[in-house]
Amino acid sequence: MKKKHSRGDHEFNPETLALGYGYDPALSEGAVKPPVFLTSTFQFDSAQHGKEFFEIAYGLREKEPGEVPGLIYSRLNNPNLQIFEQRMAAWDRTEAAAAFASGMAAISTTCLALLRPGDKVLTSAPIYGGTHFLFEHILPRYGIEAIQVPTSVNTPTLMGQLARELGGVRMLFLETPANPSNAMVDIAAVSALARQLSKESGEKVITAVDNTFLGPVFQRPAACGADLIIYSATKFIGGHSDLIAGVVTGSEALMKEILTFRTILGTMAAPFTGWMLLRSLETLSIRMRRQSKNAQALAKLLAAQPQVRRVNYPTLLPEGSQERAIYEAQCTGPGSLISFEIEGGEAAAFAMLDRFEVFRLAVSLGGTESLVEHPMTMTHADVPPEQLEAIGVTPGLIRMSVGIEHLSDLQRDLLHALEG
Ligand SMILES: *Cc1c(COP(=O)(O)O)cnc(C)c1O
Repeated sequence: MKKKHSRGDHEFNPETLALGYGYDPALSEGAVKPPVFLTSTFQFDSAQHGKEFFEIAYGLREKEPGEVPGLIYSRLNNPNLQIFEQRMAAWDRTEAAAAFASGMAAISTTCLALLRPGDKVLTSAPIYGGTHFLFEHILPRYGIEAIQVPTSVNTPTLMGQLARELGGVRMLFLETPANPSNAMVDIAAVSALARQLSKESGEKVITAVDNTFLGPVFQRPAACGADLIIYSATKFIGGHSDLIAGVVTGSEALMKEILTFRTILGTMAAPFTGWMLLRSLETLSIRMRRQSKNAQALAKLLAAQPQVRRVNYPTLLPEGSQERAIYEAQCTGPGSLISFEIEGGEAAAFAMLDRFEVFRLAVSLGGTESLVEHPMTMTHADVPPEQLEAIGVTPGLIRMSVGIEHLSDLQRDLLHALEG
């Protein structure tokens, strides 16, 4: 794989790297675009090469300086995944990355690789439903306990108090901004806490951030000190609502442990998914910026409507507030998820949802098309009623994922749906 990352002392930007980095056309008949490598197995030049590839793949010896491990079998790796992984690592400015069959495959493989019986995890709350299920119902079977800490400006302080009280905390798992409230956790403060806890306990405490909503374009957790950055690539990275995938980025050392588990659990993405993700990465920055620009205009429009009680969107955070300071320190843009509460509860929300024509009534997010949904009865239907209020999910709350359509069409559609 061609590794050109810079010319002289000029480091290329991820938008540029997304078009060529990690791919050597000479290995594919000069094809400008990487072909899809639909193969399960790879032929060795010689028995000696086969032996060397296995030695590295199975950790029997360390790589020699400059040695490029050869391809063996697509459960271990495949060119489409490797190119995608190199470009994702470039985007997050981490040493390595691993592609998975889904966001949940990425999260569960990471947890199984890095946690042991007796370990505890502190998570921000609310958190994605599948992740919540993993922490509540699956990891406890393996002796791993997760404790939720509400997302607020106080999350780092609360996590510090709890970790010292409980002992055995091995991972701080964050999802920021929170879904659907857009509340934020201070990643730098939590990462600093993890480093402090590592020192106190003599064992590494890992900060993992689910960066699906703003990353990698508007939020780079590695720059805030986080160890692992996790994505549902189904959302913005894939970006066209036509695939399911996940990715984790981080240091060589942590990714090595995660890759061993990926190989054995078989949770890697398929070659065709890797190829689709490469196509998607080329336009990631353009799409996310256009989506965010549309969303900023719609959030402003919503905030000016009398039927709208409250709009949750980063650019509307009060100037001078602690939330605003966190947003400005760790994000370079507000993204394209908005939630808002309308007068009239569920009946009014349902009537509004049924009137949209351009926005599609569907869950998921991050695609080129605009979507709307009702968190209380859809994405957050399994959250216990007593917790809904705390995470801002009320009967009148609607969540939208803003796409790349022409802004004037979205504005008209929104006003039409609001006014009936
Ligand atoms: C969708 C989502 C996931 C799960 O990803 P899948 O690709 O559906 O497995 C995890 N975290 C967040 C924040 C998500 O939005």
